Amino acid sequence: MNVGVLALQGDFREHLAALAECGAKAFTVKSLAELNSIDALVIPGGESTTMSKLASAFELMEPIKNRIKNGLPVYGSCAGMIMLSKLIKDPASNQQTFGGIDIEVERNAFGRQVDSFEADLDFKGLTGPKFRAVFIRAPWVSKLGPGVEVLSEIDGHAVAVRQGKLLATAFHPELTSDNRIHRYFIEEICNK
Ligand code: GLN
Repeated sequence: MNVGVLALQGDFREHLAALAECGAKAFTVKSLAELNSIDALVIPGGESTTMSKLASAFELMEPIKNRIKNGLPVYGSCAGMIMLSKLIKDPASNQQTFGGIDIEVERNAFGRQVDSFEADLDFKGLTGPKFRAVFIRAPWVSKLGPGVEVLSEIDGHAVAVRQGKLLATAFHPELTSDNRIHRYFIEEICNK
């Protein structure tokens, strides 16, 4: 199985390292040819407005949307969660998403006071201790469609969701040494 990491912008190197530690073959994706060669995709954290612009400029917006519609397993962290959501509350002008998960997200939802923070979370489907989650100008899920499963939440706000083969977290497991969420994506979503 070849796992691609969308490498237009953001912390794709950290995802490559986490996937490699899980034993996956991971490659950067910046072109249509690379997109066509992968069996699963990771969308990194970064800046979703920039990612949206670059995806259009690199002519990857429609091809990624199509692969998602056709069942490609995808995991997105933070900006990656925003890119996988159907709707953005108050989007920046012209900001588009790939969609796929029936949620609306609010960008930078935790506000300036808590721009960045860490929290120990229960995460449905993981065994072992709570997951130490790093949040950086993170979104939360502001509306949830009926087919979406919440895997983790903070103060009643969903911060990790799954819909079929699509997984999204508002936080950044790639910035910690805990690879359980990458492993969950590979073992419970891609390999099933
Ligand atoms: N606030 C960023 C956005 O809206 C996401 C931040 C992140 O990925 N750490 O895209």
